[in-house]
Amino acid sequence: MDISRKDTIDLNGKNVTVIGLARSGIAAAQLAYELGANVFISDVSDSEEVQNALKKLMDQGMAGETGGHTEKIHEADLWIISPGVPKDSEIINNAQNNKIPIVSEIEFASWFTMAPILAVTGSNGKTTTVHMLYEMCKTDDVDPVLSGNVGNPFADVVRNDLTNQNPNRVHVLEISSFQMEFIRHFKPYISLFLNLSPDHLNRYDDMDDYVATKMNMWSNQTQDDFLVFNGDDELLTERIAPAQAKKIPFSLKFDTNVLFKLNATKIYDQEHAILINLDDIALPGKHNLSNYLGSATSASLLGIASSRIANVMLSFCGVPHRLEHVGEINGVAYINDSKATNVDAVKVALDSFDSPILLILGGQDKGGDFLSLYPHTHKVKEVLTMGESEEAIATVLGDAVRLRSCGSLKSAVEVAHSNAQPGDVVLLSPGCASFDQFDNFEHRGDVFRELVQGLKEFA
Ligand code: ADP
Repeated sequence: MDISRKDTIDLNGKNVTVIGLARSGIAAAQLAYELGANVFISDVSDSEEVQNALKKLMDQGMAGETGGHTEKIHEADLWIISPGVPKDSEIINNAQNNKIPIVSEIEFASWFTMAPILAVTGSNGKTTTVHMLYEMCKTDDVDPVLSGNVGNPFADVVRNDLTNQNPNRVHVLEISSFQMEFIRHFKPYISLFLNLSPDHLNRYDDMDDYVATKMNMWSNQTQDDFLVFNGDDELLTERIAPAQAKKIPFSLKFDTNVLFKLNATKIYDQEHAILINLDDIALPGKHNLSNYLGSATSASLLGIASSRIANVMLSFCGVPHRLEHVGEINGVAYINDSKATNVDAVKVALDSFDSPILLILGGQDKGGDFLSLYPHTHKVKEVLTMGESEEAIATVLGDAVRLRSCGSLKSAVEVAHSNAQPGDVVLLSPGCASFDQFDNFEHRGDVFRELVQGLKEFA
């Protein structure tokens, strides 16, 4: 099938194979089916969840298989691939040898919407920032919808819009680097790049490969589009330099070419009017200020008024599991930052508090550099470790900070509770993935919240 021009793509009667039956795979299959394709779905897993998902799609008229891939996957005009499938895997190589075009769910869905796309990527802060941006855009003239990595698949949103074209629609998309594999035409009107730090190193060969994949987000942008980027991030600034789009920086450190300027106490807009006093911003931490500048710049380029942007800065209280205040016991604040799955997120969490911190750290190691936490530990009274990475953490940080191995989150919370003094902060900011002991980071954060709740009842 020729996909070289997206305006001539017609799926009617075409054979489309969808590899992977997670949420985005299911959504892509349904969109393709609705557009008239013969859809075949294939997943290596045979779990009950996958089987049930396939059954539902088969009831709607699609075909498929679970528990492995058969030759049927190659009887296709197009493949839509789930973000979980590594790009150098054997099945991808085989399809490429058979000249079957392969696209991601995000790429596929983008063919069927004319609405402007605001796409946000970065190593940290994506979810927080897309929520800020979404809130800023929610006005009489703009009808934003949030999708992508944030949980609601883009293909679902596009499918719902097929029969309900909305002239005010704007897509606010959270994009992970996995979703920027297999991109052909995907072209945001505004792409927002927050930061680049070594994350997901276990999946990519090296940092360069990881960064190159994220940079696919601007590869189809033209001079009619905008690229908003964090000018304080040197690597990012270097890597977006070749982009065609109009480049607009935001910064906590400089004010050349930026739309929103900052001094020690205030943010100013393009008209040199005060946007907001820094003390009035609801979310703590310099990293959130940076996220705000990125979202405000993007919203402003879309025509959103400064007053609306300022209102969101005043009122937005953040997203669960990101520096979320889950309780106070005997003057000790308990903070759930379970979403801090890499070391850089732990650094910014540590920098967000002026009080002494008992840090709960550890989980499934993603190859992060725990030693780099050291310059951020001057307020840390004690590090309480848990999970598979305990030994790795103790090896590099054990001599530098007071550290205690707790094994589990439950035991870490108990130790923190008995050691903390009024005015301290107990911070769950694990710097690791959660899969060694939990289903996902939400589960880890929920368990933390319940443990704190339990302590409260005995307090
Ligand atoms: P993502 O969706 O990119 O994972 P989140 O908004 O979910 O980002 O935040 C993930 C973690 O990163 C949280 O622990 C949060 O406190 C931290 N964080 C948020 N914004 C930034 C930023 N700009 N730089 C570094 N860390 C950040």
